[in-house]
This record gives sequence, structure tokens and C-alpha cells, in this order.
Amino acid sequence: MKQLDTNQEALIAPIDQDAMLAHAQKWSAINTGTANLEGLAEMAATLADAFSDLPGDVKLLDPAPVTAIGADGSEFEKPHGQHLTLSVRPGAQRRLLFTGHMDTVFPKDSAFQDQKWLDEETLNGPGLADMKGGIAVFLHALKAIEQSGAGQQIGYDVLINSDEETGSLASAPLIEAMAQGKYAALTYEPSALPDGTLAHARGGSGNYSLTITGKSAHAGRNPQDGRNAIVAAAALVLGLKDLQTEDCPINPAKIEGGAANNVVPDHAVLRFNIRPKSPDAAAAFESALAALVRDTQQAHEVSIHQHGGISRPPKPVDRKAQRLFDLVRDCGASLGQEIGWQSTGGVCDGNNIASCGVPVVDTMGVRGGAIHSADEFMIVPSLKERAALSALVIHRLASGEEL
Ligand SMILES: [Zn+2]
Repeated sequence: MKQLDTNQEALIAPIDQDAMLAHAQKWSAINTGTANLEGLAEMAATLADAFSDLPGDVKLLDPAPVTAIGADGSEFEKPHGQHLTLSVRPGAQRRLLFTGHMDTVFPKDSAFQDQKWLDEETLNGPGLADMKGGIAVFLHALKAIEQSGAGQQIGYDVLINSDEETGSLASAPLIEAMAQGKYAALTYEPSALPDGTLAHARGGSGNYSLTITGKSAHAGRNPQDGRNAIVAAAALVLGLKDLQTEDCPINPAKIEGGAANNVVPDHAVLRFNIRPKSPDAAAAFESALAALVRDTQQAHEVSIHQHGGISRPPKPVDRKAQRLFDLVRDCGASLGQEIGWQSTGGVCDGNNIASCGVPVVDTMGVRGGAIHSADEFMIVPSLKERAALSALVIHRLASGEEL
């Protein structure tokens, strides 16, 4: 049952469902696959315009340089789009962080570009749930906060990055810098379940490429002079599986390289992903990997170059973060929304924010589902519903609520 006081009623009254839907639809129509720099530039300009309705300065910042390893072992730079930031009342004593991402998993040439109504309340379209609808949620929640005057009691930064879907490598330093000194953060990934359930603790994720360089030789004449990079890669795979624990699943994903059948191969690239469930498991894996690489180099007389690492630290929920979850639940209850949470194996920018010691709830965006597929949908009335939820949470934090 709803139990809002008159202040709260007045706070959420101006939240305009139609304007929110118009924003989400306009943004979904712009393709923003993480590699579509043109689309991202158009989106950044459109967002800069929309966020200029809030006080403060909107900036578009260049991405941090990011490299990847090609199949031949060479390191190359991967281009990324600019990130949007907005800083409001940076001198305020209590400051909050709001984050979202403008990119989607759907590339420019994806068949999934258009929106389609599935029923009166459900809209199918790229990025509507993940997370263009979510960007509309916090923009309109912040507008309501500013309109109410409550905003004067807080400062906040907004970050909308362009590379979340590929791991936020080009925005990680910015996320870390913007998390500094913040009292709490809200991130607008869609709810974990279509009923509004939030994602609670999250495991982490790391991606690695190991480039193995051995020595070629003739397979028949002088194989003893060769140092087989494929054999070393296979030894690494088996060694990695031995390092796997319940707290740290390891997925060797790909071996590239090799040579003709009559040549001892001198080159291979092994790629793998890990999902550490706790900071301890992550640290234990990293030191065990260093030992495995050292031992394999010695045993197989090859050299091994390591690229990558843990880009999403595990996100446990500490006492302050739990209080933020409790606050969201309480605000939901006063709106007549029942809000629960559950742990998930998925990762997002909330991982990076939490690792800076800032309490974060990272699924404050719309209710929806089937994300990362052509069936992605947004439950349209959840736009206003979740903006009201955010507005109440921000209002309580602005009114001195302690975490
Ligand atoms: Zn997302």
C-alpha cells in the first residue's frame, strides 16, 4: 500500500512518463554498439543536450587507451567512444554518483535495430532495458529532485560511459576517479528480474591472453631443437583447470596459433576468463597464475607474455551497501512496490564502484528482460515507477539519511 507524505507526493508528481518514453525511444533508435564510434558520438551529443536540463557542466571526455592481443600475438589499440560526465555542486558536503552506459551489445550491422510493441505495456527494442530506459530513469529522477529544491542539499556526478558492454576498460580510470569521495552511488542497469528484483552481491570477472613463444624446428629432422608453443598452451590449460576452485571458476576459451604439420609450432595465444566470487579468491588466483606461468616457462622452455587481468573486481555487499539496499526497499514499500534482491554471476560498473569502497545499488534501471538478445524488452510503465523510486531514495539521502 502506498504511504507517501505530501512532500514525497509533490516530489514525484512532475515525473513525466511520456517524456521518459520519448527519450528511451529516441535513444534506442540510435545504434550504439560499443564499436560503432559514429553512433556513439551521435548518442553522446543527444545525451549532452538532454542532460543540459540539469544544473552543472556536461563534458565529453576521451576514452582511456585500451589494447588487445591479436591472433598473431601483436598488441593493438582498440578505439572507443567518448564518455559523458556531468558535475553538479561539486563543493557540496554530501555527494552522490549516478552511472549508466550508452553502448549496447548490438553492432551497427545487427539485424536488431527497430522497436516493436509486444503489448500495451511492453516495448521490444535494442538497448531499451540495457540501459537507455535506465538513463531516462535517472535523468528524470534528478530533474524531479532539482525541481523540488532538495537537490540543493547534495552534490552529484553523472557518468555515462561508452564501453560498459566490453568491460569498461576505456572508462575504468574515470569510474574510479569519479567514485572518490562519494557517499553512495546508483547505477541504472535493468532489474535482475522483470518483477523489479535487484542484483545484490556480484562475482568478479577477468579476461586474460597469454602469448606463448617457443622455437620452430623441423618435425622430422630436428624436433629436439624445437620448443612447442601449442604443447605449452595445453599445459597452461590443464594447469588453469587445476587452479579452479568453487570460489573461482576458470574458463579456458580459445587457443590460436600453431603451424604446419611438419613444423614444431613456435607461437600460440591462449585466452581465458575467470569469475572470482570474492576479493580473496581473486588475489589467490592472481598469485597462483604467476606461479603457473613461471613453472610453464621453465618446464617447456618457452616465453609467456601476459595481457589483461581482473577488470571487474568481485562486489560483496558490506554493511553500508546493505543499508543502501534497505533504503531502496523502504522507499519502494512507501510507493507500493515490493523490492527484493538476489546475488548474480553477472558483472557491471557497480563492481568497479564498490571496489572503491562506495555503497552502490546497480540495478536501479527499468524492469525488463531478455537483454543481450533480439527479444530485449522494457516494461514501459516501469519508467515512471523506477524514476519515482530513485527520486525518493535520492531525497532521503539528501535529507541526511545515514548509511
Ligand atoms: Zn547494461
